Amino acid sequence: ATHDALTGLHNRRYLEDILSHECSQSRRSKSSLCLCIVDLDWFKSINDTYGHHCGDEVLRGFAAAAAEMVRQSDHFGRYGGEEFLGVLTGTDVAGAKIWAERLRQKTETLTFPGLPESFRTSVSIGVACFREGEDIGRAVLRADDALYRAKAAGRNRVMTDDAPASPASVAG
Ligand code: GH3
Ligand code: MG
Ligand code: MG
Repeated sequence: ATHDALTGLHNRRYLEDILSHECSQSRRSKSSLCLCIVDLDWFKSINDTYGHHCGDEVLRGFAAAAAEMVRQSDHFGRYGGEEFLGVLTGTDVAGAKIWAERLRQKTETLTFPGLPESFRTSVSIGVACFREGEDIGRAVLRADDALYRAKAAGRNRVMTDDAPASPASVAG
């Protein structure tokens, strides 16, 4: 299977195949490749407050909204649980930050049938670009580390493996 049953997105196994393929492609063509690890914030408390069924609804709604924002040449799938992975080709870290920030902002506006009208959710995103000569697994780790820092800094923000991006860090 290449797809996740709940969201219909690519599953982790397929994403890993995509990653290794895009990584070779990026090496060959010397084009940049960026990874965005996206994790829903406080997701356990959504399950605890509204039930697992509503949690599933949030996962489906988020997945559908995110899928609409993905270009033809890019990939987006469910990496596991409430964690998603975006693979952006031909995109440098600045471009990936812009995409991630748009996804973050879009997520804040989503409403879900079956949840209270006032219910909103958010995501934290870690961004890293593949570096020439490294193993793709290293880039995943750096994206994961950036995600960890986005969580630690308060959630609902995008962090890269080098510098903070948004929203709290953007002054004025
Ligand atoms: P954080 O902001 O730090 O990411 O907090 P969190 O609560 O999102 O993170 P944590 O890892 O503590 O909890 C993730 C939760 O996601 C726990 C697990 O039960 C839930 N989860 C994972 N997969 C599914 C799923 O398919 N459906 C539902 N409803 N919940 C899921
Ligand atoms: Mg989470
Ligand atoms: Mg998680």
